[in-house]
Amino acid sequence: MSALAGLGLAPVINAAGTVTRLSGGILAPEVVAAMAEASAACFDMLDLQAAASRAIVAATGAEAGIVTGGASAALLLGAAACLVGLDPAAMDALPRDAARREVIVARSQRTMYDRAVEVAGGRLVEVGIPDRFSGAGVRDATAAEMAAAIGPATAAILWVAQPWSEPPLEELCRVAQAAGVPVLVDAAAQLPPLANLRGFLDAGADLVAFSGGKAIGGPQASGILAGRRKLVASALLQMLDLDLPAAQFRLPPEFAGNRALPFLPRHGIGRSCKAGKEEIVGLLVALQRFQAEGDAPRQARMRARLAAVQQAMGQPPGVAVEIAEGPTPLLLLRCADAAAARAAEAALRARRPAVHVNQGRLREGVLVVHPAALAEADLPALGAALAAVLGSDTVLPFASAAKAG
Ligand SMILES: *Cc1c(COP(=O)(O)O)cnc(C)c1O
Repeated sequence: MSALAGLGLAPVINAAGTVTRLSGGILAPEVVAAMAEASAACFDMLDLQAAASRAIVAATGAEAGIVTGGASAALLLGAAACLVGLDPAAMDALPRDAARREVIVARSQRTMYDRAVEVAGGRLVEVGIPDRFSGAGVRDATAAEMAAAIGPATAAILWVAQPWSEPPLEELCRVAQAAGVPVLVDAAAQLPPLANLRGFLDAGADLVAFSGGKAIGGPQASGILAGRRKLVASALLQMLDLDLPAAQFRLPPEFAGNRALPFLPRHGIGRSCKAGKEEIVGLLVALQRFQAEGDAPRQARMRARLAAVQQAMGQPPGVAVEIAEGPTPLLLLRCADAAAARAAEAALRARRPAVHVNQGRLREGVLVVHPAALAEADLPALGAALAAVLGSDTVLPFASAAKAG
């Protein structure tokens, strides 16, 4: 009996994207093989993270990098690093005490992910009013407003990356750098394009967090923190198991600046952020593959998946079907109205295997088929399920059987 069957587990068809709620995406066989290889041996975790740093530096242009248990873990560790730097006594005092603990963020960029900053001991300070909700407003937070909020208790500025994020990162980094305050970027889901691996650091960010389990194609519980060597070293120290005699501890050159630690801190605030050897090695292989493929071939591979779904689905009556181009192409199914889209989404989820489409645009009446987490073998079944639920009159033999069922 297969392991999954033994556990009574039934997979779903995931057309929602690499969302955590649906277990992320599907790993390439090369990534799985690397994880299996790593699992069959033991390592010094410092050696693993040093290897990770070399690969992350090559990919991002950062001074250093580590693999964490996810982008949320990277945000927690990055905030902790900004709060205490390389002061071991201050590391040991987190999250209860910190001399500087305010993390400034544009009010329009608040997300549920920023509680990672608060878990580390940070206190979010909101700036600006995204007044567009009123219909009259035209402004968001400005770099000058953010600069005015900087004070003696400021530990960092958090910037959540989206193409429309304000203030622009370069302007923000200029005022932050002038004040000596690091900028931490949440870029968890900002890949592809590949250029974003370097873009936020090039714009002046001090630390950037990426998810490993989204488009990179790494293990679901993996992430990257990359940036300034001193801050990454602080993050690493606050994540590692430091239960060893202090004299035996030596920070690898990948992380060591010119400052020696006065003493070795205890297990840090980031112990719960740890990445295992399988995640680290799996993510590094996935990152290599992600870079090697390039944006245009990846888009073509995703478009081919959507085309296969579309062909199997046929033309559902009253539904406008379109492939929307973007960093990741998407299949949009525009239904008569929001109620029709919601009903179709529910019917898809009620099937066995359950079909999950992306729900982000249901209120506009649009079902979004996201290709990133689809298994190639699921494409005909997904098309048939959409045909059955949306009432396509297709010429494909399995569509009528699916409709009858
Ligand atoms: C997905 C996401 C996260 C969390 O990433 P994990 O790797 O799942 O921890 C954080 N911030 C944003 C904006 C995200 O989209």
